[in-house]
Amino acid sequence: MNAVKPRVLVVEDNPMNLELVSDLLQAKGFAVHHAPTAEQGLILARSLMPDLILMDVSLPGLDGLQATKALRAYPATRNLTIVALTAHAMRGDEELALKAGCDGYLAKPIDTRSFADRITGFIAAANARRAQTQPDQSHGN
Ligand code: MN
Repeated sequence: MNAVKPRVLVVEDNPMNLELVSDLLQAKGFAVHHAPTAEQGLILARSLMPDLILMDVSLPGLDGLQATKALRAYPATRNLTIVALTAHAMRGDEELALKAGCDGYLAKPIDTRSFADRITGFIAAANARRAQTQPDQSHGN
């Protein structure tokens, strides 16, 4: 039993996408927070330190990739798990998302049946990666 719900920050300017994503995540027991712009997302990311940020690439003002770079450049938020939401039509967005520092990406329109499980998978993968790179183990050399 999980006493603490995993927290997802959704940075998304499209109300319909936000509602869909929020419904899917809340149905699977996630706590969903929302920012409609990258600028607000950066502020919320720092205060919430969520388990995962779902970052729409196409946003007004700063876009999702610029916001990801900003989070990676800031020590407190450098290791947050960030998954880009890319538009299916924009080929090359996936590669750009990874270059910007995203841990992964999901293409819109999202697959509603697998969506929440994929988010769980990204969080689990990030936790496993973090556990492997813990600096508090003594190194032989
Ligand atoms: Mn958008």
